[in-house]
Amino acid sequence: MDIKSAQFVISNTDVEKCPNGSLPEYAFIGRSNVGKSSLINSICNKKNLAKTSSRPGKTQLINHFLINLDWHLVDLPGYGYARASKSQKKVFQAFITNYFEQRKQLVNAFLLIDIRHEPQPVDLSFMEWLGINQIPFSIVFTKADKLKPKAQEQNIAHYKREMLASVWEELPPVFITSSLHRTGGKEILNYIDQLNVQYRQNIEI
Ligand code: GDP
Repeated sequence: MDIKSAQFVISNTDVEKCPNGSLPEYAFIGRSNVGKSSLINSICNKKNLAKTSSRPGKTQLINHFLINLDWHLVDLPGYGYARASKSQKKVFQAFITNYFEQRKQLVNAFLLIDIRHEPQPVDLSFMEWLGINQIPFSIVFTKADKLKPKAQEQNIAHYKREMLASVWEELPPVFITSSLHRTGGKEILNYIDQLNVQYRQNIEI
């Protein structure tokens, strides 16, 4: 899929106020500083579509972008930011939870993981929660340029082992990306393309 257009639609903290209609949508989520804004900008070929925040955890909004006038990309708040106050965290978790539970247009969530890090409990438990709620997701490893290919492979294998050792019998699709080298974005867009076709076949029935 080529990106012909990408535009901001709306930001809010209320799933009820997200765009109506039946356009398929794809959520991007991960720990603060994982490289989410950089990846969204790289995928969409725009410098400042998603705002790279100098203060992580500050922008806690559901951001909708319309891509190719055909589907929505949703930038969700980064989680696990230690400096967000307890009450802030609570509110932010509630509206993310509401989003995932209520948003019928959501086709797939892309969960971003920094390829350098050991599997983190907050990410593993979030995946488990997605699984329990039957929300399809894929894992997107970010910042691949920071590791040599061999170390990338080792870390991904470690991740997969951890998942299989916990609750997972089958692993989700995995993407390896670098916003710096602009790699991996095409694969994500092609995957979205495939899922869009399936989504439209299903809603026609
Ligand atoms: P967000 O908080 O998840 O939206 O993360 P940002 O996109 O703002 O990125 C956090 C930091 O990681 C910034 O300093 C980025 O320049 C850096 N970063 C993001 N993606 C990459 C990448 O692919 N490679 C490298 N080397 N650095 C990256």
